[in-house]
Amino acid sequence: MNPSWRNIETQVIHAGEPSPRVNGAVCLPIYQSAMFLYSGEQSYHDLKYIRLNNTPNHEVLHKKLAALESGEAALVTASGMAAITTSLLTLLEGGGHLLAQDCLYGGTHDFLTKNFSSLGLSYSLIDANAPQTWEKSLRPNTKAIYVETMTNPTLQVADLEAAVKFAKAHGLISLIDNTFASPVNFNPLAHGFDLALHSCTKYLNGHSDLVAGAVVGRADLIQKITHLLNHLGGSLDPHACFLLHRGMKTLALRVRYQNESALQLARFLAAHPKVESVNYPGLPSHPHHDRARRLFRGFSGMMSFELKGDVAATERFVARLQLPLVAPSLGGVETLVTRPATTSHSGMAPAERQRIGISDKLVRVSVGIEATTDLVEDFKQALEG
Ligand code: PLP
Repeated sequence: MNPSWRNIETQVIHAGEPSPRVNGAVCLPIYQSAMFLYSGEQSYHDLKYIRLNNTPNHEVLHKKLAALESGEAALVTASGMAAITTSLLTLLEGGGHLLAQDCLYGGTHDFLTKNFSSLGLSYSLIDANAPQTWEKSLRPNTKAIYVETMTNPTLQVADLEAAVKFAKAHGLISLIDNTFASPVNFNPLAHGFDLALHSCTKYLNGHSDLVAGAVVGRADLIQKITHLLNHLGGSLDPHACFLLHRGMKTLALRVRYQNESALQLARFLAAHPKVESVNYPGLPSHPHHDRARRLFRGFSGMMSFELKGDVAATERFVARLQLPLVAPSLGGVETLVTRPATTSHSGMAPAERQRIGISDKLVRVSVGIEATTDLVEDFKQALEG
């Protein structure tokens, strides 16, 4: 890659693009062809076929994602969960054991708790802020450690540096779900993680119009994960590749704006007398603010908060909001609000939700790219209405 393309604003536009351009087209066309002519490939995995994740629309994304995360290689997948499940199945093959952070995205948590044992795999949940407690969970077959950059929906920031150190000391592969931070705010591989995972459905695409995932990191691991994905078939369609490619070009502009807007909204909420608590790592009151400041370039567009009063009062507040849409998911251009107890974390036992700080009245906000003043005004009228 051209050395002047070290900055993410340039990489999202230029990294991985074909040179010269295909038939002079500035934007890579969609290769809507299931198969390509045989041209002497020696291995099954190299035959050009959509399921084998190697059409030009896949390859440009692999190169661009590898550049954004400073990884050796990357793979796009049919969803964030396809990236997570295929990576874990690859790394834990043969009955492996996983150390996993105890507060995870609901789908990942469900995969561990509901599917692992029938697949012959095992896991132990760890308090990712208490590295001194991790060693006792190690087993002879422990192969990997799994954390999230910021937890969903409580925005806790685990001791990420300790996770890397622990993995290296015990010969484990370290994985991190970097969806909430996006490569704009944090590059886990530069901090020593082996693999960074993304739900590209969120910030990387940013337009709430597709589902996709990615895994980026060590080339030897990406090749193994790709080979398993080639068999499982969770490949991204070329048209979705094209949309993701287009969405990624504005990633840096969107996320920087969302960081700034979310910080202002979080400050407003934290100062409001009707608000009980706000979870946002950019606030000095956040328990991991110092760590977030040291590691991240921005604090993301995600936050959660609780109002004083009960669930019914929270529901009335949400109903009074006019600008945000009430919907799960995150990272898009429109501001979304949701109550995780009824959406992303509804599959979790209520006691488990309480233990990790997800009360029934917790509201999660994904800040979009609307004018910050309009957003803050709308929250103000809904709080005071
Ligand atoms: N990781 C995180 C942090 C998420 O929030 C989500 C979805 O909300 C996923 C992974 C799963 O991604 P997808 O819905 O693209 O499968």
